[in-house]
Amino acid sequence: MKKLLVLTSGGDAPGMNAALRAVVRAGIYRGFEVFGCSSGYYGLVNQDIFPLLSKNVANIIQRGGTLLKTDRCKAFRQQTVRAKCIEFLQQQGIEHIVVIGGDGSFRGAALLHREGGLNVLGIPATIDNDIIGTDYTIGFNTAANTALNAIDKVRDTASSHDRHFLIEVMGRSSGFLAVEVGIAGGAELILTPEFPMPIEQITQTFTDETKRKKLSKIVIVAEADSQPGRSVKIAQQLRELTQTEFKVCILGHTQRGGSPMVTDRRIGSQMGELAVRALDEGQTNMMTAIQHGELVLTVFPPHDNSGRRLSDKDILNLNTILSL
Ligand code: ADP
Repeated sequence: MKKLLVLTSGGDAPGMNAALRAVVRAGIYRGFEVFGCSSGYYGLVNQDIFPLLSKNVANIIQRGGTLLKTDRCKAFRQQTVRAKCIEFLQQQGIEHIVVIGGDGSFRGAALLHREGGLNVLGIPATIDNDIIGTDYTIGFNTAANTALNAIDKVRDTASSHDRHFLIEVMGRSSGFLAVEVGIAGGAELILTPEFPMPIEQITQTFTDETKRKKLSKIVIVAEADSQPGRSVKIAQQLRELTQTEFKVCILGHTQRGGSPMVTDRRIGSQMGELAVRALDEGQTNMMTAIQHGELVLTVFPPHDNSGRRLSDKDILNLNTILSL
């Protein structure tokens, strides 16, 4: 019987469970024996796989996180470790693998294909929406809605007290989440990693006499660092330069959790089914993607890429107009 393994790897994202459920059920539908392993590539390194039946993925489509757990497995970056994983998979008769994760996880999958001839298919899942080759990644919409809910709540207290707030959202290297919630949340200013702004220019947002006077303003700040906290430093600088109080709210890991929104459940379900169908039809070393609104298969991002980035300022210019 043809065998298929599914794992979730890298950063978690709401909607991973919907994709997992779809992989398992589409796999069974197409006559695969489906297996899972836990905590990303750790499950392979530890040679700990288990069968996944239809009932095992019941009642998970509405749950955030991932049933299989996810992790970052450093050991898997070593060729010798991967060779043992490949040998193990061959012993088990597993030739097909679906990896639900981000860029890094796809690098690992591509190496399993190159070094072991395994048939691999990726499903892009990250709240950052920053994978080259797809316009959408599972988890983005839910994370954006979670952040937006928080922003709306902060706005209530901000306007009641006539306070300015910096609200920090996730996005180490890309500003997609910041822009999405900045526009939707009526931000005064959106700070992204792609278009850094000197503090003098940020200050101007609060001191420009020609602009309409507002008693409370919200600035959305993308993390733009390996650690949260950039907004604390910016608020400190703004206090010194404007003699005005700035409050900070860092949304942090709340953005990763929660019940997935309809988009993430639907796209997760569609991508899960497509990944299995593609493997069954002989495709490999590809990922599912959304391009111009269509669900498609495409090649993995280049091995040495550093992720998709906001490439034009139009959306930021739009925000400048709308915050007049
Ligand atoms: P994401 O998949 O969310 O981008 P990471 O970049 O942390 O997250 O990658 C997830 C895991 O994928 C890593 O912990 C590692 O096990 C595997 N991985 C990442 N890059 C490589 C690589 N160059 N070679 C082999 N495995 C990799």
